[in-house]
Amino acid sequence: MSGKSGSCIECGGTLCAKLVQKVFTRKGRLIAVISDIPADVCEQCGAKSFKIAVVKKLETQLSGMNRSARKVEVPFAEYAA
Ligand SMILES: [Zn+2]
Repeated sequence: MSGKSGSCIECGGTLCAKLVQKVFTRKGRLIAVISDIPADVCEQCGAKSFKIAVVKKLETQLSGMNRSARKVEVPFAEYAA
């Protein structure tokens, strides 16, 4: 896996594959903090872009977490289908 995967749509900067953390809220309530999400992060402006497969997996993961918020901080990979 190479670190570079294109250029930023915002500023044209170099994108770097990183694992990021993202906080999800709904109506002001914290739903989940998911860490270790693979994303392309711009080295210049910090813009994050996620692959469609990753977004879909996040949506699946979140939909299963709406009711039981016993554990809000979860790593992305743990829920991988
Ligand atoms: Zn950028």
